[in-house]
Amino acid sequence: MGEEYLFISDCHLDPGRPQITQALSQFIQTRACKASRLYILGDLFEVWLGDDDAAQGQSQVIDSLQQLASSCEVYFMAGNRDFLLGEAFADRVGMTLLQEPLVLQLGQLRVALLHGDSLCTDDHDYQAFRNMVRDQRWIVDFLAKPLVERQQIAAQLRSDSVAAMSKKSSEIMDVNPTAVAECFHANRADVIIHGHTHRPATHSYASNLTRIVLGDWVREPSFLSWQADSGFTLTDPRV
Ligand code: MN
Repeated sequence: MGEEYLFISDCHLDPGRPQITQALSQFIQTRACKASRLYILGDLFEVWLGDDDAAQGQSQVIDSLQQLASSCEVYFMAGNRDFLLGEAFADRVGMTLLQEPLVLQLGQLRVALLHGDSLCTDDHDYQAFRNMVRDQRWIVDFLAKPLVERQQIAAQLRSDSVAAMSKKSSEIMDVNPTAVAECFHANRADVIIHGHTHRPATHSYASNLTRIVLGDWVREPSFLSWQADSGFTLTDPRV
């Protein structure tokens, strides 16, 4: 068996869902440890308010990731919930931070990796919010606030977002076809891999283009594997 690369996203680790923390630790120890690379494409954590935040209840996963990093290259790309995860935490775990989109050459294929929220352009309110919080000045300003204040702001933003989401149609919260086409074009990609929408699937388009959507973790692991001889395999209880 040749090299294997694994891709996951949207574990949304949270102290309120210890079974997901357990499932991810187990996945790392039994599966990812045999791979040569693990790409985490965002929303590993349900909320991340800065590297000084204690990542409550996640020491098991952090230990597993640290251990994994000794034998496997671990990469992390920010999601919309954990974009404040920074170099300090990445260094501690031994993972490399990636900026999106990242293009990988896998065999004959150019593969673009991204979290996926940037493709959901029909959600105008969210895109405006994203532009605000992904701005470097906003980040520096936010991280300079005491943790308690950051927690209060985040709780407010979250309740606003839950209220807004309940009014949005499910189409608005999925990717926009034009944004997808532009992403293929801008990256000259044959394959796009992303998460965020929690709709695990493999979509085929004209000209042999493929978009693979990683699943969120509900009970069991959801992951994509790539190997030179067999290509991509998406493993998710729903597909
Ligand atoms: Mn997301």
